[in-house]
Amino acid sequence: MKITHVKVRLFEYPMPKTFYPTWQPLPTTAARIHLVEVHTDEGIVGIGSGGVPVRWEIAGLFLMGQDPFNLEQHVANLRSMAFFVGRPWPVEVALWDIIGKATGQPIYRLLGGGSDRLKAYASTGELRDTAARVDSAQQIVSEGFKALKLRFHSPDVRDDLKTLAAVRKAVGDGIDIMVDANWGWRIAPDRQPHRWDLRTAIYAAQAMEEHGVYWLEEPLDAYDYDGLAELRRHLTTLRLAGGELNRGPEEIQTYLEKGCFDVYQPDCTFIGGISTVRKIAAMVQAAGKVFTPHTWTNGIGFVANLHCAAAAERVPYIEFPYDPPHWNPEDRDFIFAEPLRIDSEGFVRLPQKPGLGIELDEEKLKRYEQADTSRLI
Ligand SMILES: [Mg+2]
Repeated sequence: MKITHVKVRLFEYPMPKTFYPTWQPLPTTAARIHLVEVHTDEGIVGIGSGGVPVRWEIAGLFLMGQDPFNLEQHVANLRSMAFFVGRPWPVEVALWDIIGKATGQPIYRLLGGGSDRLKAYASTGELRDTAARVDSAQQIVSEGFKALKLRFHSPDVRDDLKTLAAVRKAVGDGIDIMVDANWGWRIAPDRQPHRWDLRTAIYAAQAMEEHGVYWLEEPLDAYDYDGLAELRRHLTTLRLAGGELNRGPEEIQTYLEKGCFDVYQPDCTFIGGISTVRKIAAMVQAAGKVFTPHTWTNGIGFVANLHCAAAAERVPYIEFPYDPPHWNPEDRDFIFAEPLRIDSEGFVRLPQKPGLGIELDEEKLKRYEQADTSRLI
C-alpha cells in the first residue's frame, strides 16, 4: 500500500448555545473540526484531527509514495516538520487509522489494549457562577458519571474554593472531583492576569485536600519544574496532574525525574502522535505513576486519545469533554454518524470498527464543510 496524497478539510458547526471557555479569550460560537485525510492507492483513507490546526497537508510532501506502515520513519519526519510549521500529529493519527482499517482492527487492540471501556469523568469547561455549577454537577451525576472536573478561573481563588465546597456538598463523597487550574499554558493572558504563585498554589491545594479532591491539574506554569515538585512535596492525599500540551517525551522525562506529577496527561494530537504516547505511557507506568490523556480538542481528538488510554494499564478515568447545556456530545462529535456517550454505569465504550472506528455522516459532512480551510477561530 502506498500513500497518494494528504488533504485537509474544515467543518464548522454553529453552536446552538454560545460556549464561554475558561481558557481562551473568545466565546465559541461555532465548533470546528479541521480534518486531515491521508489517501492511499488501495482506496483506504485514514482520518485525524485535534491538536492545533496548521498546514498538515505539507506532510504529503514526504508521505507521498510511502508505505503507511513505516510509522517510526514517518514520526521522525513529522517531528522535523513540527520544528518548522507546527505540530502535525493528527497526520500520524490518520496513519494509525489506515493501519487499523487495513488490518480490520480497532487501534487500541493493535496497541495491545485490553480495556474495551473506560470510566469517564465529565470535564466541564465553562465560566459559571456557583449556583449554575452546582446545578450542572447535579445533572452530570444524575446521568451516571462517577467523577467530574471543575475549572478554577476566578481572580480570587477563595471564590473558586467556595464553588468547590458547594459542589462537594451537592454531589456527596461518593463522586470523585478533579480541579483544573489551567495555569500550565496561558492562552488568554488578558483574562488571566492573576496566575497563581507557589504560595497560592499550596494554599489552594491544601484546601482541596480537605474537600477530598482526586487531582489538581496545572497549578503552575508547565515549565516551572521546581515549583511543581515543591508543591507536590507539600501534599499528602491530593494528586498533581499535568502534561497535556507538552511537545515531546523529553519534557515528560524531566517531570518524572524532578517528581512533578502523579498523573500524566499527554495528548497524542499535541505531543507526537499515538506512537509517541504509547512510549510515554510506558515511561510513566514504569515510574509508578498514572497515565490518562487530555482529550479536549474535538470528537476525533477525543477518540484518538481514548484508544491510547484503552491500551494502557491502570487508567483510572478518561476525560469526557462535556458541560451541559452548552457543550454536548452532539457539538463535540458533530460530523459523527453517532456521538459517543457514556453507558448507564458511567463508562465510555471503545469503538469496535477498524482504525479509530469513527463513522462520519455524509449528510453532515456536506452540510458543515467550508470552502476556506484556513480559518482557525
Ligand atoms: Mg487540563
